[in-house]
Amino acid sequence: MAENCTVHHDHPHKHGAGCGHTAVRHGDHVDYLHDGHLHHPHGDHVDEHVIEVSATNPDRCNHGEGCTGHEAGHVHGPGCGHEAVPHGDHVDYLVNGRLHHPHGDHCDDHGPLEVVSAS
Ligand SMILES: [Zn+2]
Ligand SMILES: [Zn+2]
Ligand SMILES: [Zn+2]
Ligand SMILES: [Zn+2]
Ligand SMILES: [Zn+2]
Ligand SMILES: [Zn+2]
Repeated sequence: MAENCTVHHDHPHKHGAGCGHTAVRHGDHVDYLHDGHLHHPHGDHVDEHVIEVSATNPDRCNHGEGCTGHEAGHVHGPGCGHEAVPHGDHVDYLVNGRLHHPHGDHCDDHGPLEVVSAS
């Protein structure tokens, strides 16, 4: 039964409401963005999740449709101020509830990711 469980090793932090990480809706559950990983608390361990490539979250170049929500010329990368989100086989950045994929001189829009407010 555990075949879909990718256990994150050595994870003493317990994700939950108000834990300080950005909580996002993933299908029928909530995951937490943690250092570029999508963590899903699962019993006594943490699973690694990835946003699936789908019609909602396509994995293709749409020629700059994602270049909104930040300064023109902003280049996403480690420490750019946006949360990294694993999507398919690559990493996107979360900007105003959308997945931005840096692609050459523009951002592709890889669809919405709903942020769940911690309350
Ligand atoms: Zn957390
Ligand atoms: Zn998930
Ligand atoms: Zn592109
Ligand atoms: Zn950025
Ligand atoms: Zn993407
Ligand atoms: Zn962008």
